[in-house]
Amino acid sequence: MDAAPGRPGIEPAGFAPRVVAWQRAHGRHDLPWQRSRDPYRVWVSEIMLQQTRVETVLRYYEPFLQRFPDVRALAGAPLDAVLAQWSGLGYYRRARNLHACAQQVCERHGGEFPRERAELEGLAGIGRSTAAAIAAFCFSRREAILDANVQRVLGRAFALPRPRDAASLRAMWQLAESLLPARHIEAYTQGLMDLGATVCKPAGPDCRACPFAADCPGPADAAEAAPAARASRGAARRTREWVLLWARSDEPDAARVWLQRRDAQGIWPGLWSLPGHDDAAAALRQAAELGEVLDQQAREPVRHALTHVDLLLRPLLVQLRARPRAADEAQHAGWFTVDEALRLGLPAPVRKLLGG
Ligand code: SF4
Repeated sequence: MDAAPGRPGIEPAGFAPRVVAWQRAHGRHDLPWQRSRDPYRVWVSEIMLQQTRVETVLRYYEPFLQRFPDVRALAGAPLDAVLAQWSGLGYYRRARNLHACAQQVCERHGGEFPRERAELEGLAGIGRSTAAAIAAFCFSRREAILDANVQRVLGRAFALPRPRDAASLRAMWQLAESLLPARHIEAYTQGLMDLGATVCKPAGPDCRACPFAADCPGPADAAEAAPAARASRGAARRTREWVLLWARSDEPDAARVWLQRRDAQGIWPGLWSLPGHDDAAAALRQAAELGEVLDQQAREPVRHALTHVDLLLRPLLVQLRARPRAADEAQHAGWFTVDEALRLGLPAPVRKLLGG
């Protein structure tokens, strides 16, 4: 490991104590999931925090726990209820895995989360780093985490390139394990997370606030990261346009809207949605199949950004007299009152359109 000119390089044996001391003085201490060693609460937070900023998770965490207060409540809930509660957090595969994992914990482990990283890793949606974080926070196990933030911190602190293949990733895991402290694994694990999230940030590390400012070899990738991040921000994003058929039928008891469950793959996997069409003609053809069209009205387009694509949604509100038709046999589509619809797992913009 070569240090930057004029800097001595970080002594591995002193790394963990400095992270622990920094975390105690400057790290985050007031996040709701830090108040508990309950693996259920910690696990929910770890899954929510994957690819999602803390500020966003803070809005969803407590309501999720109120709705599903323990692993049995989550395991016994319908998947649609879980997706509905997750609505707005995105990356819905996480919610499906959360539900599957809760059922595995109940079926295989009697409703108790296993304490060992290797066992946790066998559960749906729990990778090695997440398993290590749960084992460290809840059961004080000396396990190394190595999510993308921690890879960046260790890479910069020890002048290692970002792992691009299995061998270099393996080497970084070995480094991460060699740095583990004998004590205070919780503060150390939290400290690494805090450093990665708040100080050693991807495009602009705040080295002055870092405990390694004096001897870190330097943000070897920071010079590249800033332009790379700028380039990715500036790169032209693909826009996908959909006409959303918002079919509404006023029944004697209540107005109903037609919803379809989306495929398990692709955009909004497994969620219920107003059907998306390439153009208004296709949407109207479907409307005519659903009933006698009485009126139609194009609503204000809605933009919605996903990770790799921007959606431009053009809602087409079609008032119709529905033909008698129950939900299809596979229950992938049907008429729902707005109250019923809002209890389903809906994509955030559709939920907003329907009044949620
Ligand atoms: S914040 Fe700066 S000093 Fe600290 S680890 Fe990152 S690059 Fe090194």
